[in-house]
Amino acid sequence: MPVETNNSKQMKTPKIRQFGGSLLIFLTLLLALNFILPTFFGPSLTQVPYSDFISQVQAGKVNKAIIGSDLIEYAIKTTTPQGQEVEQIFRTTPVAIDLDLPKILRENKVEFAAPPPAKNGWIGTLLSWVAPPLIFFGIWGFLMSRQGGGPAALTVGKSKARIYSEGSTGVKFLDVAGIDEAKAELEEIVDFLKNASKYTTLGAKIPKGVLLVGPPGTGKTLLAKAIAGEAGVPFFSISGSEFIELFVGVGAARVRDLFEQAKQQAPCIVFIDELDALGKSRGGAGGFVGGNDEREQTLNQLLTEMDGFDANTGVIIIAATNRPEVLDPALRRPGRFDRQIVVDRPDKIGREAILNVHARNVKLAEDVNLGIIATKTPGFAGADLANLVNEAALLAARNNRQSVIMADFNEAIERLIAGLEKRSRVLNELEKKTVAYHEVGHAIIGALMPGSGKVEKISVVPRGIGALGYTIQMPEEDRFLMIEDEIRGRIATLLGGRSAEEIVFGKVSTGASDDIQKATDLAERYVTLYGMSDKLGPVAFEKVQQQFLEGYSNPRRAISSQVATEIDLEVKEIVDHAHHIALSILQNNRNLLEETAQLLLQKEILEGAELREFLSKANVPTELSQWLKTGKVDSSQPLLQSLL
Ligand code: ADP
Ligand code: MG
Ligand code: ZN
Repeated sequence: MPVETNNSKQMKTPKIRQFGGSLLIFLTLLLALNFILPTFFGPSLTQVPYSDFISQVQAGKVNKAIIGSDLIEYAIKTTTPQGQEVEQIFRTTPVAIDLDLPKILRENKVEFAAPPPAKNGWIGTLLSWVAPPLIFFGIWGFLMSRQGGGPAALTVGKSKARIYSEGSTGVKFLDVAGIDEAKAELEEIVDFLKNASKYTTLGAKIPKGVLLVGPPGTGKTLLAKAIAGEAGVPFFSISGSEFIELFVGVGAARVRDLFEQAKQQAPCIVFIDELDALGKSRGGAGGFVGGNDEREQTLNQLLTEMDGFDANTGVIIIAATNRPEVLDPALRRPGRFDRQIVVDRPDKIGREAILNVHARNVKLAEDVNLGIIATKTPGFAGADLANLVNEAALLAARNNRQSVIMADFNEAIERLIAGLEKRSRVLNELEKKTVAYHEVGHAIIGALMPGSGKVEKISVVPRGIGALGYTIQMPEEDRFLMIEDEIRGRIATLLGGRSAEEIVFGKVSTGASDDIQKATDLAERYVTLYGMSDKLGPVAFEKVQQQFLEGYSNPRRAISSQVATEIDLEVKEIVDHAHHIALSILQNNRNLLEETAQLLLQKEILEGAELREFLSKANVPTELSQWLKTGKVDSSQPLLQSLL
């Protein structure tokens, strides 16, 4: 059974809750008694309408009355058949403050008085003084205990680390696949904690701190959970952001508390997830001042604590981050997080292994080949693959299938790459035609470019947020480098859609903006990051700041305006030449473009062998090989303007 305890709230809050709780019950009882007792022991009286009371007074039947502000009790003297005189007591409720009442009573010679002060009232009086503060404290205690921290003022400095015992995370090393090197390193650490003597007799020191770095979703947190599951030692887990508080000094107190607990429970593992939240470089320009102060203090405390114990006390700190480059250098010096383990995106074999892990509990049909799926998913991290398997299973369930078939996986891959199908987005005829030619333009050029893989599918079914159509190109193998001609080819492929529009319609649509954006970005990186431009040479004009997070642009180095101009011109030239070659290819394959687009309009989707047969017919213009080699086209050749 998972025993996940939040140790900081164990001791304190239950007391407060009991205290508040029993008081509340006691008070409720007292209040209830105060009301119930008089009704039990007092006489039970008949309730009469007020109007009857008045008419009884006027008839002279009433001889005594006690007039309260919201209750009137009165006595009527009657004679029993035996001739005895008895007083009967009735009760009524005044309608409003009846100012005529005393006058009527006097006129009819009724003896009347106000009620004496309530006899049981002392409890009420007492309660009215004592109860409100007590109730307040009761509710306060209750809320605090629900919040999980006890009264905030008392426990702000307590660490919020959760302790997992062996197996309680439910994750084992077996559940982590495709990142074998990282796993092996961590297995060694677990082994050290289990058989420390094996290492210490040799005089070996196990690293105090291990830093897991890698892109998001590659299984860093999962690995840590697996360690918790495997190690027979206490495992403290906390996220870096949980140290950062509004009040300066609180985070530092948390760190202190965490390490105090860890040292008591050694050997043990402390896992700090998202370390960058707390370990950002102190020198860096920070946001607002207060936040930085708090982070610096917390970080300093962490550094101090890490120095404060011996390597072999058996406390091992593992941290994870996807932004190692922002970490304070002090964190990485020997004796702290000196060992870095890269948890990278899995290769093809790794992806297959991960798919196997996640498909364990999924019913797969005979035709499913996880190896092929792994081939089709380059760049997918573990989290993407887990998601993929789940999507495929959901699709199979939606179609009431007994097991998940390959088609479900293919559709799931497309969903993850291109987004959900949006058949509800209806395009008019011209738009549809534009999209069809645009996509075929991408496909024809993509098929001729080196290293970009096969064109698998063209579709004019809208998908995702913006895509009205899409072309899927699958690499045949994992690639870790891009050669310069492949980058040129990629830029030309991206411009293929727009070029087709230009050639077929003589005017362009807005649909190419995303392609143009990507092509320009790539051309810029060609110059500023990869140093591939002949003119500017192998000089880096960008400062790489993000190793593992994609989609962040890097800031430029300080450069002169002259160099900036040169970069701009160079980027433009690369894009222009790629555009030229794209136009040239499509010009050379005007008929193929026409034929394929018409068929695509009819069938909406072209894929597999049929598509490949079409694309294999493409003519290669003579200038292509020259351009691939140099990135230049013969400038005496006419560009589009004269083609039209
Ligand atoms: P990270 O912390 O690196 O961003 P996580 O460890 O949170 O990524 O991964 C998220 C999920 O993706 C995991 O819960 C798991 O289901 C799946 N996953 C990621 N990497 C792997 C892997 N190597 N093997 C198996 N599953 C993985
Ligand atoms: Mg994580
Ligand atoms: Zn496009």
